Amino acid sequence: MKPAICDLCLNDFRSEMFHAASGGDLVRFADYSPLDAGCAGHPHGYEWFCAEHLASAQALASLNYADAMARLFRQFGPFPEYPALAHSDPALWVLQVGPNPTRVFCIIRQAMALSPRQAKMLMATAPFKVMQAWPQAFRTWQQALEQAGASVETRYPSSRSALVESTAPPRR
Ligand SMILES: [Zn+2]
Repeated sequence: MKPAICDLCLNDFRSEMFHAASGGDLVRFADYSPLDAGCAGHPHGYEWFCAEHLASAQALASLNYADAMARLFRQFGPFPEYPALAHSDPALWVLQVGPNPTRVFCIIRQAMALSPRQAKMLMATAPFKVMQAWPQAFRTWQQALEQAGASVETRYPSSRSALVESTAPPRR
């Protein structure tokens, strides 16, 4: 089976697919040919598309794979080159500190092992990343932050977000 990377734009959504079963899906084209029983590999005409290109690919699923891809590239291409992923763990982000900044301050100091000054600076720059780990590993912190009234989000790394991060101006 191929990894969950968009066949059109090469956006890599393996992490989101693995952890949350979302981020895109497989499309079966007209010339799909299943693998023989017991055969390892990936069947022809059965490809991954990211959430952005999934609907367009599904709309062309009645065509052969090569014809559908030619149309999709005419419609959407060319694509920027996405950098390879440096890591694939999701990240816990605080979007808004909310009504109890003192409690949030204590939680992020513990979670991130920050000095009071560092924690203060970070809180002034919301949204900010708390940690990158398996979701099970940061669930306790996530719940504590939510109970303190902060709004939090789990962000899944993709090659597209890596591109945005690497081209974004540095914070602070
Ligand atoms: Zn795509």
